[in-house]
Amino acid sequence: MATIFPQFRSLEGADTLYVIEGPRHVTEWQPMGAEKWMVHQHYASDYPRYQWVTELLACEGAATDLSSEEWEAHVHKRNVVSASTAPGRVPWPAEVGAWQRSAELGPLTTFGAEAKSERMAVVRTDADVRWALRSAPDQPLMVLGGGSNVLMHRDWTGRMLHMQVTGVQKLADDGDEIEVVVGAGESWHGWVMRSLDEGWNGLENLALIPGSVGASPMQNIGAYGVEVKDRFAWLEAIHRETGALERFDAERCAFGYRDSLFKQAEREQWVIVRVAFRLARTSPLQTKYGAIQSELAVRGWDQGTTHRQVAEAVMHIRRSKLPDPEVLGNAGSFFKNPVISQAAFEAVVAAHPDVVHYPAPNGQVKLAAGWLIDQAGWKGHRRATCGVHDRQALVLVNHGGATGAEIWALAQDIMQDVLAKYGVQLEPEVNQIGL
Ligand SMILES: Cc1cc2nc3c(=O)[nH]c(=O)nc-3n(C[C@H](O)[C@H](O)[C@H](O)COP(=O)(O)OP(=O)(O)OC[C@H]3O[C@@H](n4cnc5c(N)ncnc54)[C@H](O)[C@@H]3O)c2cc1C
Repeated sequence: MATIFPQFRSLEGADTLYVIEGPRHVTEWQPMGAEKWMVHQHYASDYPRYQWVTELLACEGAATDLSSEEWEAHVHKRNVVSASTAPGRVPWPAEVGAWQRSAELGPLTTFGAEAKSERMAVVRTDADVRWALRSAPDQPLMVLGGGSNVLMHRDWTGRMLHMQVTGVQKLADDGDEIEVVVGAGESWHGWVMRSLDEGWNGLENLALIPGSVGASPMQNIGAYGVEVKDRFAWLEAIHRETGALERFDAERCAFGYRDSLFKQAEREQWVIVRVAFRLARTSPLQTKYGAIQSELAVRGWDQGTTHRQVAEAVMHIRRSKLPDPEVLGNAGSFFKNPVISQAAFEAVVAAHPDVVHYPAPNGQVKLAAGWLIDQAGWKGHRRATCGVHDRQALVLVNHGGATGAEIWALAQDIMQDVLAKYGVQLEPEVNQIGL
Protein backbone atom coordinates (compact mmCIF):
# COMPACT_ATOMS: atom_id res chain seq x y z
CA MET A 1 0.00 0.00 0.00
CA ALA A 2 1.25 3.49 -0.82
CA THR A 3 2.56 5.50 2.14
CA ILE A 4 0.63 8.70 2.78
CA PHE A 5 2.84 11.66 3.54
CA PRO A 6 3.59 13.56 5.66
CA GLN A 7 4.51 11.17 8.47
CA PHE A 8 5.63 12.45 11.87
CA ARG A 9 8.36 11.02 14.12
CA SER A 10 10.15 12.03 17.29
CA LEU A 11 13.48 10.85 18.59
CA GLU A 12 13.27 9.03 21.91
CA GLY A 13 15.18 10.80 24.64
CA ALA A 14 15.47 14.06 22.64
CA ASP A 15 13.06 16.74 21.58
CA THR A 16 14.00 16.46 17.92
CA LEU A 17 11.03 16.03 15.59
CA TYR A 18 10.92 14.82 12.01
CA VAL A 19 8.34 15.40 9.31
CA ILE A 20 8.80 12.84 6.54
CA GLU A 21 7.52 14.89 3.61
CA GLY A 22 8.05 12.18 0.99
CA PRO A 23 10.21 9.09 0.38
CA ARG A 24 13.27 11.29 -0.11
CA HIS A 25 12.54 14.44 1.84
CA VAL A 26 12.63 14.97 5.61
CA THR A 27 12.25 18.18 7.60
CA GLU A 28 14.10 17.99 10.91
CA TRP A 29 13.01 20.24 13.81
CA GLN A 30 15.79 20.70 16.36
CA PRO A 31 15.13 22.51 19.63
CA MET A 32 17.00 25.79 20.13
CA GLY A 33 16.77 26.95 23.72
CA ALA A 34 13.37 26.94 25.38
CA GLU A 35 11.43 28.80 22.70
CA LYS A 36 12.68 28.18 19.22
CA TRP A 37 13.05 25.52 16.58
CA MET A 38 15.86 25.24 14.07
CA VAL A 39 14.48 23.64 10.90
CA HIS A 40 16.70 21.68 8.47
CA GLN A 41 15.73 20.15 5.13
CA HIS A 42 17.22 16.76 4.21
CA TYR A 43 16.99 15.48 0.63
CA ALA A 44 17.92 11.82 0.21
CA SER A 45 19.89 12.15 -3.01
CA ASP A 46 22.29 9.31 -2.16
CA TYR A 47 21.74 5.76 -0.91
CA PRO A 48 22.78 6.22 2.78
CA ARG A 49 20.33 9.09 3.20
CA TYR A 50 17.59 7.20 1.39
CA GLN A 51 18.23 4.31 3.81
CA TRP A 52 18.00 6.74 6.75
CA VAL A 53 14.58 7.98 5.55
CA THR A 54 13.42 4.38 5.07
CA GLU A 55 14.48 3.52 8.64
CA LEU A 56 12.78 6.64 9.98
CA LEU A 57 9.61 5.64 8.15
CA ALA A 58 9.81 2.14 9.62
CA CYS A 59 10.42 3.62 13.14
CA GLU A 60 13.69 1.73 13.43
CA GLY A 61 16.25 2.73 16.06
CA ALA A 62 15.14 5.50 18.42
CA ALA A 63 12.37 6.96 16.24
CA THR A 64 8.76 6.95 17.51
CA ASP A 65 5.66 7.38 15.39
CA LEU A 66 3.58 10.49 16.17
CA SER A 67 0.06 11.30 15.10
CA SER A 68 -0.38 14.73 13.54
CA GLU A 69 -2.13 15.88 16.76
CA GLU A 70 0.81 14.70 18.91
CA TRP A 71 3.20 16.40 16.54
CA GLU A 72 1.26 19.67 16.75
CA ALA A 73 1.27 19.45 20.57
CA HIS A 74 5.09 18.99 20.55
CA VAL A 75 5.58 21.84 18.12
CA HIS A 76 3.49 24.16 20.29
CA LYS A 77 5.86 23.60 23.24
CA ARG A 78 8.60 25.61 21.66
CA ASN A 79 7.67 28.21 19.15
CA VAL A 80 7.41 31.86 18.40
CA VAL A 81 3.81 32.19 17.28
CA SER A 82 3.55 34.78 14.55
CA ALA A 83 0.75 37.32 14.93
CA SER A 84 -0.83 36.30 11.63
CA THR A 85 -1.18 32.66 12.61
CA ALA A 86 -4.77 31.73 13.32
CA PRO A 87 -5.37 29.99 16.66
CA GLY A 88 -5.56 26.24 16.33
CA ARG A 89 -3.23 26.14 13.33
CA VAL A 90 0.29 24.78 13.55
CA PRO A 91 2.44 27.83 14.27
CA TRP A 92 5.39 27.61 11.92
CA PRO A 93 8.51 29.43 13.03
CA ALA A 94 9.27 32.73 11.39
CA GLU A 95 12.56 31.55 9.89
CA VAL A 96 10.85 29.10 7.50
CA GLY A 97 9.50 31.84 5.26
CA ALA A 98 8.64 35.52 4.95
CA TRP A 99 6.06 37.56 3.07
CA GLN A 100 7.11 40.30 0.74
CA ARG A 101 4.47 43.04 0.74
CA SER A 102 3.05 44.75 -2.35
CA ALA A 103 5.09 42.70 -4.83
CA GLU A 104 5.09 43.86 -8.48
CA LEU A 105 3.68 41.16 -10.77
CA GLY A 106 4.28 42.83 -14.16
CA PRO A 107 7.90 41.56 -14.40
CA LEU A 108 6.87 38.08 -13.17
CA THR A 109 4.26 37.48 -15.91
CA THR A 110 4.90 37.26 -19.65
CA PHE A 111 1.89 39.48 -20.51
CA GLY A 112 3.48 42.18 -18.36
CA ALA A 113 0.15 43.77 -17.36
CA GLU A 114 0.79 45.85 -14.25
CA ALA A 115 -0.56 44.45 -10.98
CA LYS A 116 0.62 43.89 -7.43
CA SER A 117 0.26 41.07 -4.96
CA GLU A 118 -0.53 42.07 -1.40
CA ARG A 119 1.74 39.27 -0.09
CA MET A 120 4.24 37.15 -1.97
CA ALA A 121 6.49 34.37 -0.69
CA VAL A 122 9.17 32.51 -2.60
CA VAL A 123 8.74 28.82 -1.75
CA ARG A 124 11.77 26.54 -2.19
CA THR A 125 10.76 23.46 -0.19
CA ASP A 126 7.66 21.56 0.87
CA ALA A 127 8.08 23.10 4.34
CA ASP A 128 8.04 26.61 2.82
CA VAL A 129 4.80 25.72 1.03
CA ARG A 130 3.21 24.46 4.25
CA TRP A 131 4.33 27.52 6.13
CA ALA A 132 2.72 29.77 3.49
CA LEU A 133 -0.48 27.70 3.52
CA ARG A 134 -0.82 28.01 7.28
CA SER A 135 0.18 31.64 7.55
CA ALA A 136 -2.74 34.09 7.10
CA PRO A 137 -5.05 31.21 6.12
CA ASP A 138 -8.07 33.51 5.80
CA GLN A 139 -6.56 35.19 2.72
CA PRO A 140 -7.03 33.85 -0.83
CA LEU A 141 -4.02 32.00 -2.21
CA MET A 142 -2.56 31.71 -5.68
CA VAL A 143 0.47 29.84 -7.00
CA LEU A 144 2.64 31.60 -9.56
CA GLY A 145 5.11 29.66 -11.70
CA GLY A 146 6.67 31.36 -14.72
CA GLY A 147 3.61 33.62 -15.17
CA SER A 148 3.28 32.62 -18.85
CA ASN A 149 -0.35 31.51 -18.72
CA VAL A 150 -2.02 34.17 -16.60
CA LEU A 151 -3.68 37.51 -17.22
CA MET A 152 -3.89 39.68 -14.11
CA HIS A 153 -7.13 41.70 -14.18
CA ARG A 154 -6.38 43.59 -10.97
CA ASP A 155 -4.14 43.56 -7.92
CA TRP A 156 -4.10 40.24 -6.05
CA THR A 157 -5.46 40.87 -2.55
CA GLY A 158 -4.12 37.80 -0.83
CA ARG A 159 -1.15 35.45 -0.66
CA MET A 160 0.87 34.48 -3.70
CA LEU A 161 3.35 31.59 -3.63
CA HIS A 162 6.16 32.01 -6.12
CA MET A 163 7.07 28.40 -6.87
CA GLN A 164 10.84 27.82 -6.74
CA VAL A 165 11.14 24.18 -5.63
CA THR A 166 14.07 22.99 -7.75
CA GLY A 167 16.08 19.83 -8.40
CA VAL A 168 16.28 17.00 -10.93
CA GLN A 169 16.71 13.47 -9.64
CA LYS A 170 16.91 10.18 -11.55
CA LEU A 171 14.88 7.53 -9.71
CA ALA A 172 15.14 4.51 -12.02
CA ASP A 173 17.07 3.51 -15.12
CA ASP A 174 16.80 0.13 -16.84
CA GLY A 175 19.27 1.05 -19.58
CA ASP A 176 16.53 2.41 -21.82
CA GLU A 177 13.64 3.79 -19.76
CA ILE A 178 14.36 6.39 -17.11
CA GLU A 179 12.13 7.81 -14.39
CA VAL A 180 13.12 11.30 -13.29
CA VAL A 181 11.52 13.61 -10.75
CA VAL A 182 11.81 17.35 -11.26
CA GLY A 183 11.06 20.24 -8.87
CA ALA A 184 7.97 22.28 -9.77
CA GLY A 185 9.97 25.51 -9.89
CA GLU A 186 12.44 24.33 -12.56
CA SER A 187 12.10 26.09 -15.92
CA TRP A 188 10.23 23.85 -18.37
CA HIS A 189 12.51 24.59 -21.32
CA GLY A 190 15.62 24.26 -19.14
CA TRP A 191 14.44 20.82 -18.04
CA VAL A 192 13.67 19.74 -21.64
CA MET A 193 17.19 20.74 -22.73
CA ARG A 194 18.75 19.02 -19.70
CA SER A 195 16.81 15.81 -20.45
CA LEU A 196 18.06 15.83 -24.04
CA ASP A 197 21.66 16.45 -22.90
CA GLU A 198 21.36 13.37 -20.68
CA GLY A 199 19.92 11.29 -23.56
CA TRP A 200 16.55 11.02 -21.75
CA ASN A 201 14.33 11.48 -24.77
CA GLY A 202 10.65 12.12 -25.32
CA LEU A 203 10.13 15.80 -24.52
CA GLU A 204 11.83 17.25 -27.63
CA ASN A 205 8.57 18.43 -29.28
CA LEU A 206 7.80 20.49 -26.17
CA ALA A 207 11.01 22.56 -26.34
CA LEU A 208 10.78 26.34 -25.82
CA ILE A 209 7.37 26.33 -24.12
CA PRO A 210 7.76 29.01 -21.43
CA GLY A 211 6.89 28.45 -17.79
CA SER A 212 7.65 26.05 -14.98
CA VAL A 213 7.64 22.26 -14.64
CA GLY A 214 4.95 22.45 -11.93
CA ALA A 215 2.46 24.17 -14.22
CA SER A 216 2.98 21.71 -17.09
CA PRO A 217 0.36 19.18 -15.88
CA MET A 218 -2.12 21.95 -14.98
CA GLN A 219 -3.21 22.38 -18.57
CA ASN A 220 -1.43 19.29 -19.94
CA ILE A 221 0.84 21.45 -22.10
CA GLY A 222 1.22 20.31 -25.65
CA ALA A 223 2.79 21.16 -28.99
CA TYR A 224 3.54 19.44 -32.30
CA GLY A 225 1.64 16.24 -31.56
CA VAL A 226 2.98 15.62 -28.02
CA GLU A 227 1.37 16.44 -24.67
CA VAL A 228 2.92 16.28 -21.23
CA LYS A 229 0.58 13.37 -20.34
CA ASP A 230 2.45 11.22 -22.91
CA ARG A 231 5.65 11.32 -20.80
CA PHE A 232 4.11 11.84 -17.37
CA ALA A 233 4.74 9.32 -14.56
CA TRP A 234 3.26 10.99 -11.45
CA LEU A 235 3.27 14.22 -9.51
CA GLU A 236 3.22 15.20 -5.86
CA ALA A 237 1.09 18.03 -4.57
CA ILE A 238 0.33 19.55 -1.17
CA HIS A 239 -3.29 20.04 -0.24
CA ARG A 240 -4.03 23.69 0.47
CA GLU A 241 -6.31 23.01 3.44
CA THR A 242 -4.71 20.04 5.18
CA GLY A 243 -1.04 20.39 4.17
CA ALA A 244 -1.00 16.67 3.21
CA LEU A 245 1.34 15.60 0.43
CA GLU A 246 -0.30 13.22 -2.05
CA ARG A 247 0.84 11.44 -5.17
CA PHE A 248 -1.21 11.60 -8.37
CA ASP A 249 -0.84 9.17 -11.26
CA ALA A 250 -1.99 10.03 -14.78
CA GLU A 251 -5.44 8.56 -14.27
CA ARG A 252 -6.07 10.64 -11.15
CA CYS A 253 -4.90 13.78 -13.01
CA ALA A 254 -7.73 13.27 -15.58
CA PHE A 255 -5.74 14.88 -18.38
CA GLY A 256 -7.63 16.31 -21.36
CA TYR A 257 -6.95 18.81 -24.12
CA ARG A 258 -5.27 21.72 -22.24
CA ASP A 259 -7.03 20.41 -19.20
CA SER A 260 -6.65 18.36 -16.02
CA LEU A 261 -8.22 17.70 -12.64
CA PHE A 262 -6.36 20.77 -11.36
CA LYS A 263 -8.37 23.07 -13.66
CA GLN A 264 -11.65 21.25 -13.06
CA ALA A 265 -12.97 19.21 -10.10
CA GLU A 266 -10.01 20.00 -7.81
CA ARG A 267 -9.31 23.51 -9.01
CA GLU A 268 -7.33 25.63 -6.52
CA GLN A 269 -7.01 22.78 -4.03
CA TRP A 270 -3.39 21.71 -4.58
CA VAL A 271 0.11 23.10 -4.83
CA ILE A 272 2.14 20.91 -7.19
CA VAL A 273 5.66 20.54 -5.79
CA ARG A 274 7.29 18.00 -8.13
CA VAL A 275 6.55 16.10 -11.33
CA ALA A 276 8.04 12.79 -12.44
CA PHE A 277 8.50 11.81 -16.09
CA ARG A 278 9.06 8.48 -17.81
CA LEU A 279 11.49 8.99 -20.70
CA ALA A 280 13.47 6.61 -22.90
CA ARG A 281 16.78 6.66 -24.74
CA THR A 282 15.01 4.99 -27.69
CA SER A 283 11.83 7.09 -27.51
CA PRO A 284 10.21 7.12 -30.99
CA LEU A 285 10.47 10.43 -32.85
CA GLN A 286 7.25 12.39 -33.44
CA THR A 287 7.80 14.19 -36.72
CA LYS A 288 4.44 13.79 -38.42
CA TYR A 289 3.73 17.54 -38.30
CA GLY A 290 4.37 19.04 -41.75
CA ALA A 291 6.25 22.03 -40.32
CA ILE A 292 8.72 19.75 -38.49
CA GLN A 293 9.25 17.60 -41.57
CA SER A 294 9.96 20.63 -43.79
CA GLU A 295 12.31 22.19 -41.23
CA LEU A 296 14.28 18.93 -40.89
CA ALA A 297 14.48 18.64 -44.69
CA VAL A 298 15.69 22.26 -45.10
CA ARG A 299 18.49 21.51 -42.62
CA GLY A 300 19.34 18.19 -44.30
CA TRP A 301 18.39 16.36 -41.08
CA ASP A 302 15.58 14.25 -42.50
CA GLN A 303 17.68 11.07 -42.53
CA GLY A 304 18.81 9.52 -39.23
CA THR A 305 17.23 12.38 -37.31
CA THR A 306 18.18 12.76 -33.63
CA HIS A 307 15.91 13.87 -30.78
CA ARG A 308 18.06 16.97 -30.36
CA GLN A 309 17.56 17.87 -34.02
CA VAL A 310 13.78 17.62 -33.60
CA ALA A 311 14.06 20.03 -30.64
CA GLU A 312 16.20 22.42 -32.74
CA ALA A 313 13.60 22.29 -35.55
CA VAL A 314 10.74 22.92 -33.10
CA MET A 315 12.60 25.87 -31.56
CA HIS A 316 13.23 27.39 -34.99
CA ILE A 317 9.56 27.05 -35.99
CA ARG A 318 8.36 28.52 -32.69
CA ARG A 319 10.77 31.49 -32.92
CA SER A 320 9.57 32.23 -36.46
CA LYS A 321 5.85 32.05 -35.56
CA LEU A 322 5.45 33.25 -32.00
CA PRO A 323 6.35 36.59 -30.44
CA ASP A 324 9.10 36.49 -27.82
CA PRO A 325 7.53 37.62 -24.50
CA GLU A 326 10.82 39.38 -23.66
CA VAL A 327 10.14 41.70 -26.61
CA LEU A 328 6.33 41.74 -26.89
CA GLY A 329 4.19 40.79 -23.88
CA ASN A 330 1.91 37.77 -24.50
CA ALA A 331 0.82 34.47 -22.98
CA GLY A 332 0.95 32.28 -26.09
CA SER A 333 -2.41 31.07 -27.44
CA PHE A 334 -5.05 33.16 -25.72
CA PHE A 335 -7.90 30.86 -26.80
CA LYS A 336 -8.34 27.08 -26.89
CA ASN A 337 -9.19 25.40 -30.17
CA PRO A 338 -12.96 24.81 -29.80
CA VAL A 339 -14.06 21.17 -29.74
CA ILE A 340 -17.65 20.85 -31.03
CA SER A 341 -20.15 18.10 -31.78
CA GLN A 342 -20.45 16.58 -35.26
CA ALA A 343 -23.91 18.21 -35.64
CA ALA A 344 -22.56 21.66 -34.73
CA PHE A 345 -19.64 21.10 -37.11
CA GLU A 346 -21.99 20.29 -39.98
CA ALA A 347 -23.72 23.65 -39.49
CA VAL A 348 -20.35 25.47 -39.54
CA VAL A 349 -18.99 23.62 -42.57
CA ALA A 350 -22.23 24.15 -44.55
CA ALA A 351 -21.72 27.92 -44.29
CA HIS A 352 -17.89 27.87 -44.39
CA PRO A 353 -16.69 24.87 -46.42
CA ASP A 354 -13.00 25.76 -45.98
CA VAL A 355 -13.08 25.79 -42.13
CA VAL A 356 -9.87 24.23 -40.75
CA HIS A 357 -10.74 21.25 -38.56
CA TYR A 358 -9.36 18.00 -37.09
CA PRO A 359 -10.98 14.88 -35.68
CA ALA A 360 -11.30 14.91 -31.87
CA PRO A 361 -12.12 12.10 -29.39
CA ASN A 362 -15.73 10.82 -29.02
CA GLY A 363 -16.78 11.74 -32.57
CA GLN A 364 -16.25 15.45 -31.91
CA VAL A 365 -14.46 17.92 -34.16
CA LYS A 366 -11.70 20.37 -33.21
CA LEU A 367 -11.70 23.71 -35.05
CA ALA A 368 -8.59 25.87 -35.47
CA ALA A 369 -9.36 28.95 -33.34
CA GLY A 370 -6.54 30.84 -35.10
CA TRP A 371 -8.23 30.29 -38.47
CA LEU A 372 -11.62 31.53 -37.17
CA ILE A 373 -10.05 34.68 -35.68
CA ASP A 374 -7.95 35.30 -38.80
CA GLN A 375 -10.94 34.83 -41.15
CA ALA A 376 -13.02 37.15 -38.97
CA GLY A 377 -10.43 39.84 -39.78
CA TRP A 378 -8.68 40.21 -36.42
CA LYS A 379 -5.12 39.19 -37.29
CA GLY A 380 -2.82 42.21 -36.80
CA HIS A 381 -5.68 44.29 -35.28
CA ARG A 382 -4.18 46.98 -33.06
CA ARG A 383 -5.56 49.12 -30.25
CA ALA A 384 -3.71 51.76 -28.25
CA THR A 385 -1.90 49.38 -25.92
CA CYS A 386 -2.76 45.86 -27.08
CA GLY A 387 -3.67 43.89 -30.16
CA VAL A 388 -3.69 40.61 -32.08
CA HIS A 389 -0.30 39.37 -33.27
CA ASP A 390 0.28 39.90 -36.99
CA ARG A 391 1.66 36.38 -37.63
CA GLN A 392 -0.45 34.34 -35.22
CA ALA A 393 -4.10 35.33 -34.72
CA LEU A 394 -4.41 33.17 -31.56
CA VAL A 395 -1.93 35.35 -29.69
CA LEU A 396 -3.00 38.63 -28.05
CA VAL A 397 -0.14 41.01 -27.34
CA ASN A 398 0.67 43.86 -24.97
CA HIS A 399 2.21 46.65 -27.07
CA GLY A 400 3.18 48.43 -23.85
CA GLY A 401 1.25 49.57 -20.80
CA ALA A 402 -1.86 47.44 -21.45
CA THR A 403 -3.96 46.61 -18.41
CA GLY A 404 -5.59 43.23 -17.89
CA ALA A 405 -8.97 44.91 -18.44
CA GLU A 406 -7.90 46.30 -21.84
CA ILE A 407 -6.61 42.91 -23.02
CA TRP A 408 -9.77 41.23 -21.76
CA ALA A 409 -12.00 43.80 -23.55
CA LEU A 410 -10.21 42.91 -26.82
CA ALA A 411 -10.61 39.18 -26.10
CA GLN A 412 -14.33 39.63 -25.48
CA ASP A 413 -14.81 41.56 -28.74
CA ILE A 414 -13.09 38.72 -30.61
CA MET A 415 -15.21 36.06 -28.88
CA GLN A 416 -18.44 37.92 -29.67
CA ASP A 417 -17.46 38.45 -33.30
CA VAL A 418 -16.49 34.79 -33.85
CA LEU A 419 -19.76 33.71 -32.22
CA ALA A 420 -21.75 36.03 -34.47
CA LYS A 421 -19.91 35.00 -37.67
CA TYR A 422 -19.42 31.24 -37.09
CA GLY A 423 -21.78 30.33 -34.24
CA VAL A 424 -18.75 29.06 -32.32
CA GLN A 425 -18.03 30.04 -28.70
CA LEU A 426 -14.31 30.56 -28.03
CA GLU A 427 -12.93 29.90 -24.56
CA PRO A 428 -9.77 31.46 -23.12
CA GLU A 429 -6.84 29.09 -22.57
CA VAL A 430 -5.04 31.69 -20.43
CA ASN A 431 -6.01 31.74 -16.73
CA GLN A 432 -7.95 34.93 -15.95
CA ILE A 433 -6.93 36.09 -12.47
CA GLY A 434 -9.23 38.44 -10.58
CA LEU A 435 -11.86 38.66 -13.32
C1 LIG B 1 5.14 32.51 -26.13
C2 LIG B 1 4.34 31.43 -25.43
C3 LIG B 1 4.15 30.21 -26.06
C4 LIG B 1 3.40 29.20 -25.42
N1 LIG B 1 3.25 28.01 -26.06
C5 LIG B 1 2.55 27.02 -25.47
C6 LIG B 1 2.39 25.76 -26.12
O1 LIG B 1 2.90 25.54 -27.21
N2 LIG B 1 1.65 24.80 -25.50
C7 LIG B 1 1.10 25.02 -24.28
O2 LIG B 1 0.44 24.08 -23.77
N3 LIG B 1 1.24 26.19 -23.63
C8 LIG B 1 1.94 27.19 -24.19
N4 LIG B 1 2.08 28.40 -23.56
C9 LIG B 1 1.42 28.61 -22.26
C10 LIG B 1 2.33 28.42 -21.02
O3 LIG B 1 3.68 28.48 -21.37
C11 LIG B 1 2.06 27.07 -20.34
O4 LIG B 1 0.72 26.96 -19.98
C12 LIG B 1 2.93 26.89 -19.08
O5 LIG B 1 2.79 25.57 -18.61
C13 LIG B 1 2.58 27.86 -17.97
O6 LIG B 1 3.56 27.70 -16.98
P1 LIG B 1 3.84 28.82 -15.89
O7 LIG B 1 4.79 28.26 -14.91
O8 LIG B 1 4.23 30.08 -16.56
O9 LIG B 1 2.39 28.95 -15.22
P2 LIG B 1 1.73 30.25 -14.60
O10 LIG B 1 1.33 31.18 -15.69
O11 LIG B 1 2.59 30.81 -13.53
O12 LIG B 1 0.43 29.61 -13.96
C14 LIG B 1 -0.58 29.05 -14.77
C15 LIG B 1 -1.67 28.45 -13.86
O13 LIG B 1 -1.15 27.33 -13.16
C16 LIG B 1 -1.20 27.54 -11.74
N5 LIG B 1 0.06 26.99 -11.22
C17 LIG B 1 1.31 27.28 -11.65
N6 LIG B 1 2.20 26.53 -11.01
C18 LIG B 1 1.51 25.76 -10.12
C19 LIG B 1 1.89 24.80 -9.14
N7 LIG B 1 3.17 24.46 -8.94
N8 LIG B 1 0.90 24.23 -8.41
C20 LIG B 1 -0.40 24.57 -8.59
N9 LIG B 1 -0.80 25.48 -9.50
C21 LIG B 1 0.14 26.07 -10.26
C22 LIG B 1 -1.31 29.05 -11.57
O14 LIG B 1 -1.95 29.37 -10.34
C23 LIG B 1 -2.14 29.44 -12.78
O15 LIG B 1 -3.50 29.19 -12.55
C24 LIG B 1 2.84 29.44 -24.15
C25 LIG B 1 3.04 30.68 -23.52
C26 LIG B 1 3.79 31.67 -24.15
C27 LIG B 1 4.02 32.97 -23.45
